[in-house]
Amino acid sequence: MQADKVITALKQRYPNEPEYIQAVHEVLLSIEEVYNAYPQFEAANIIERLIEPDRILTFKVSWVDDAGHVQINRGYRVQFNNAIGPYKGGLRFHPSVNLSILKFLGFEQIFKNSLTTLAMGGAKGGSDFNPKGKSNAEIMRFCQAFMLELWRIVGPETDVPAGDIGVGGREIGFLYGMYKKLTMEHNGVLTGKGTNWGGSLVRPEATGFGVVYFTNEMLATIGQSIEGKKIAISGFGNVAWGAVKKATELGAKVITLSGPDGYIYDPEGMNAEKIDFMLELRASNEDVVKPFADRFSGAKFFDGRHPWEVPCDVAIPCATQNELDENDAKNLIENGCKCLCEGANMPCTPQAIHAIQQSKILYAPGKAANAGGVATSGLEMSQNASKLAWPANEVDMRLRQIMHNIHQNCMNYGKQPDGYTDYVKGANIAGFLKVANAMMEQGVV
Ligand code: GLU
Repeated sequence: MQADKVITALKQRYPNEPEYIQAVHEVLLSIEEVYNAYPQFEAANIIERLIEPDRILTFKVSWVDDAGHVQINRGYRVQFNNAIGPYKGGLRFHPSVNLSILKFLGFEQIFKNSLTTLAMGGAKGGSDFNPKGKSNAEIMRFCQAFMLELWRIVGPETDVPAGDIGVGGREIGFLYGMYKKLTMEHNGVLTGKGTNWGGSLVRPEATGFGVVYFTNEMLATIGQSIEGKKIAISGFGNVAWGAVKKATELGAKVITLSGPDGYIYDPEGMNAEKIDFMLELRASNEDVVKPFADRFSGAKFFDGRHPWEVPCDVAIPCATQNELDENDAKNLIENGCKCLCEGANMPCTPQAIHAIQQSKILYAPGKAANAGGVATSGLEMSQNASKLAWPANEVDMRLRQIMHNIHQNCMNYGKQPDGYTDYVKGANIAGFLKVANAMMEQGVV
């Protein structure tokens, strides 16, 4: 396999899917050498089979807004690969959603889920529906209309969706309600459910907690820990919230947050009251962080800017894809940042990753560092299957162990001759080998 040739052909076939091509390119470059060392993979045409989703469902979602107008959105589910378990991955509701973005997310999810060591294949779905500014009743009607199509192809042993950007506990509840009505089954088909009807404790915090556990593992390789570190975080949603909570609890100072409107710089760092306020901001449905600076006098708002210009020890991008570019990376390097750990999926551009890795700063991709969310979804599936609910400390202990193992796996496959760990390579190779071997054993299907 020659990665560049595969990418050229893929660009011809899907010229309007840049995010998907970007995600595939990164994986192919990392695994090229290992792949070519096993001629049986090429003989079974594993790469072509892996980069094409098993199937994609696209559908129309019609719903009625509060003013009585009929609204139409597009809905999707990309079932990418189920070699190691049922299709698994979140649903994203955001106006930017299109097939390229969902294919990139579904593709990444295959390797991420493989890294967790749990039995989950890769998938992703969502809609270009914009939840911002919508009433609770509108959100409910949209979720119900979305599930009227999706229910046909999901199931606890088939495909298990969860949340992502724009889809949290409330949306999962509405989606589940309609699924239950249509199928007459209470089978746990979605993860991230309410904890009194099958949801796992720690699931809401799990992605952010996992990112911080992973950051700590990375820092330990240079004899340091997160305690006392200044951390720049972007985003203010689910991942950022969990990361701020855990980092603050472990004695770090989180000095930034961000939204589409700009970023907050708070030199005093976060505390319990400020962390709770993040939830209020999110519940307000406005998609802005400026009110944080109005509420807390020590905090300053920087209109339309990204937090990567603030000097910090650790950067944790938790907002969205390609939010951190080469210039941002150079700013972080110049300002003495020691570690960049991705909370979002693919938040760094390829040029940013190149600059960070060249400078030998610790860098981990989202598919390894943010796998704690889907790992805890896997733990939710186990609890549902056994009709049990584990206490929070048990879930947290397992999450911590999983993040430790993922880190170890990245080191095993990513250690370079000069001692630097290439976590991108490590994560991609470790994730790929498990899936590829399963595909080999299951024949051409
Ligand atoms: N959307 C999350 C992710 O990117 C979680 C997916 C899940 O729990 O299935 O991994």
